[in-house]
Amino acid sequence: MNEIRDLSRPTAPDESYLDEIAARTRERSEQAGAWSSAFAGAPESSTAGIAAGLADAESDLTELLHTIHTLAETAFVEHESVAAIASLLRGRGIDVETGLFGADTTLRATTGSGQGRTIAILAEYDALPEIGHACGHNLIAASAVGAFLALHDLHGQNPGAVPGTVVLLGTPAEEGHSGKEVMARNGAFDGIDAAIMVHGYGYDCAEQVWLGRRLLEVTYSGVAAHASAQPFMGRNALDAANLFYQGLGLIRQQMPPISRLHAVIADGGSRPSIIAESATVECYVRSKYPDTLKELSDRVEDAAKGAALMTGTGVEVKWDEHPPSLPVRTNSALTRRWAKHEEAQGRSPLPAGVLDESIAASTDFGNVSYRIPGIHPLIKTADAEVALHTREFAEAAITPEAEAAAHDAGYGLACTALDFLVDDELAAEVFAEFDRAGGAVDVENYFN
Ligand SMILES: [Zn+2]
Ligand SMILES: [Zn+2]
Repeated sequence: MNEIRDLSRPTAPDESYLDEIAARTRERSEQAGAWSSAFAGAPESSTAGIAAGLADAESDLTELLHTIHTLAETAFVEHESVAAIASLLRGRGIDVETGLFGADTTLRATTGSGQGRTIAILAEYDALPEIGHACGHNLIAASAVGAFLALHDLHGQNPGAVPGTVVLLGTPAEEGHSGKEVMARNGAFDGIDAAIMVHGYGYDCAEQVWLGRRLLEVTYSGVAAHASAQPFMGRNALDAANLFYQGLGLIRQQMPPISRLHAVIADGGSRPSIIAESATVECYVRSKYPDTLKELSDRVEDAAKGAALMTGTGVEVKWDEHPPSLPVRTNSALTRRWAKHEEAQGRSPLPAGVLDESIAASTDFGNVSYRIPGIHPLIKTADAEVALHTREFAEAAITPEAEAAAHDAGYGLACTALDFLVDDELAAEVFAEFDRAGGAVDVENYFN
């Protein structure tokens, strides 16, 4: 008998494709030049004021970064994290509202003149089950709060310097629940002209691909029967689930590489001696564009129903138990301002197309970005090979590198927000670009 390998363990995935991606990314990043923006943005006296405000808040922000990391509260139960942010703001005399827009763990505070345009700076703070802040949302919160405090300080010292409204929006439940969509449906973005936020990553990157994502649950109902004595009197729900799962695998070859399908058989019956009366497949459908996500959804639903036809089972198709996420539509006029400010902090944010688009996930910020102009850049928080949603990234999210990233991101968010409020020509281009890209989309009804 041939000894193949130790079958008590899985084989280790080969890293050569990751190595290739890293090599190509290095080549492209070496060719990336400096950023330019056709717009003047906020005056230097104001960006200097923002830097001073951030320096003043530094120790509070670092403490917040660590506090939220330790709390590691998951979607919709981020009560203590919200309380920590609210207490920091209230300690500086700022009014804070919580529990708005359809969820208990939202937060809202405003500063600025109350005239002119309004921009929102978004703070996430939810962690992942078991592995904590492996997506670094503690850093998102600290940078957003830092940006808001710096602008609040600037406004306090020179009310004319912030000619508009800055809204700090605490947005819970990004992980798996599309908290921002819940908030949007409850009016959180009404009256807001643009929204910005930042996410930690292994690179400084101004623009990266984020896929749209939908959730699908397919439940087959069969007829139970004795699997040995009378199997012909049964209708096998597990067979249907199995055929649907196979169907997903076969669709993969006939879909564009910008799409993803992944699934688990969450329920496959109770025991071998009973023809399965019920079986459930949970599936994620992802794609780079709203249109391709919609088209793929239809094909996946056909496959789900086809499996029922083949097996004589009943089928219930349930889409989007949590709201779907659209891909991120990035506003390049705002991105250029962000990148210029990050360059001033000694960083070199990569432009679109440098990071490999095959390494892509999803975010509920996508739904915001199809309602109003926005950006969702990445800031380097960890080594390039440390992936999001790993214990290693959770460890990276409280290192001195993460503290520095929160500071630099806070500076970039504050300056970009102020650019948008101050510079009418920039704002006009932000809106014009958004319109050229298709304008506001009816996100809530997009897939109906
Ligand atoms: Zn995540
Ligand atoms: Zn995240």
